[in-house]
Amino acid sequence: MESIESICKVHTLKVYQARETVDPSYDFFARFTYHTKDHRLTPDQIRVFCMCNMPVNPDHLMICCDTCREWFHPGCVSMSEDMVRRVTAWNCPECANSVRA
Ligand SMILES: [Zn+2]
Ligand SMILES: [Zn+2]
Repeated sequence: MESIESICKVHTLKVYQARETVDPSYDFFARFTYHTKDHRLTPDQIRVFCMCNMPVNPDHLMICCDTCREWFHPGCVSMSEDMVRRVTAWNCPECANSVRA
């Protein structure tokens, strides 16, 4: 898991998408509501995938690692969607590295 340790700007998704320039190291958006009273986010169950730590977007094709069972975006692991459709066994870069090491 990654955490944010410095100051960042969190926008609502609407504001975020309306911005012309977004600095990925400072600008974040929230699909969630943060409850300041009890420090809770709703919805509070969120599973993120891939090395980009994004929640699943059903519009995007993803590939599952045979070793760690994590899901990855083809673009994040330098694959085309075509390659993903053809591949039968696949290991994510991290698992592939640890096998070689
Ligand atoms: Zn990704
Ligand atoms: Zn893996």
